[in-house]
Amino acid sequence: MIRVAVAGVAGRMGRELVQALSAEPRACLAAGTVRAGTAAPVLGVPVETSLEAALDHGVDVVIDFTQHAAAPVHAAVCAARGVPLVLGTTGLSVEQQEAVNEASKRTPVLTAANTSLGVLLLSRFAEEAARVLGPAYDVELVEAHHRHKKDAPSGTALQLARAAAAGLGVSLEKDAVHGRHGLGDERPKGQIGIHAVRGGDVVGEHTILFLGDGERIELRHQVTSRQTFARGAVRAALWLVGRVPGLYSMKDVLT
Ligand code: NAD
Repeated sequence: MIRVAVAGVAGRMGRELVQALSAEPRACLAAGTVRAGTAAPVLGVPVETSLEAALDHGVDVVIDFTQHAAAPVHAAVCAARGVPLVLGTTGLSVEQQEAVNEASKRTPVLTAANTSLGVLLLSRFAEEAARVLGPAYDVELVEAHHRHKKDAPSGTALQLARAAAAGLGVSLEKDAVHGRHGLGDERPKGQIGIHAVRGGDVVGEHTILFLGDGERIELRHQVTSRQTFARGAVRAALWLVGRVPGLYSMKDVLT
């Protein structure tokens, strides 16, 4: 039985992970963490305000869905203790991502902006579509999430845009435009437009449009339940235990 610590156990994803773990016979919840100063839910396992304290309860793997600033700290704690980490948290800066990459030299770390099988497939489709269609088709990506989401665009949108950019042979850093407003030049070929909608209780929707002269293709993914993410994260955690240190992704788990 794999013993899992859930960082951010009181959050939307944290609560879903508790449920997903209770349905998984090969894993169990061993401990959780909450942000200092917030109330700990009653779960029948220790809930601490630091990951270090949570790891003292005998933990085989950590699943983190917290917030970007906590990710490098949690990765460093896991590296120091040699505990594998599934990092579902998004919105990391380049520096924060580098700190996570550094930690993965000492312990297995799996980062996933989206832990669903559907989005993994969509990334492949997006790359293939961009490669086949080429610059004659304009690529625009629209994502929608609930009003509480803090980072924009979503980590998944960036993953999908990066896949399309790879297919097109352009650079996301140079060729992406985030929203449009005001007067400007005509849309250049090879640009990737990314647009974030926020509101209501939308769990997660991503649509990639390939807009050509006389036809358009839309690739669309909708999540209706956060259990999809939670089950994927638990599957990733089971897969990650026993791996050698390194940086892994959902591609490694699901292919
Ligand atoms: P949320 O705000 O509901 O939950 C985050 C929780 O983490 C909160 O309870 C917060 O108090 C807690 N927290 C913050 N810092 C902490 C710390 N240092 N230690 C312990 N707890 C801490 O948010 P959410 O909707 O659950 O999303 C959390 C993260 O997961 C976001 O970055 C989101 O984008 C990402 N996410 C990823 C996927 C995926 O498939 N990878 C899916 C959904 C959400």
